[in-house]
Amino acid sequence: MSLRIIIRCPHCKSRAVARSSQEKTATMREITYQCTDVECGYTYVTSLEIVRGLSPSGKPNTAVRVPMSQHIKERVMQQMLLPV
Ligand SMILES: [Zn+2]
Repeated sequence: MSLRIIIRCPHCKSRAVARSSQEKTATMREITYQCTDVECGYTYVTSLEIVRGLSPSGKPNTAVRVPMSQHIKERVMQQMLLPV
């Protein structure tokens, strides 16, 4: 499943389009958006950051430090504590 995410201008609520993107770290990227309303024309920079993982990677990069979601941690702990 994939989602199509529409970003709107915070000023006039028109659709904004990504104009450029720059990787800052392995888990954070800055994306520059421009409002499509020519009378508004607002241009702004957003950040896209991985904030938590939901399942572990099968090819983990040891330099990537992203916490696991709390409910995943609790599920793993419950599985470890179950009698075999
Ligand atoms: Zn706008």
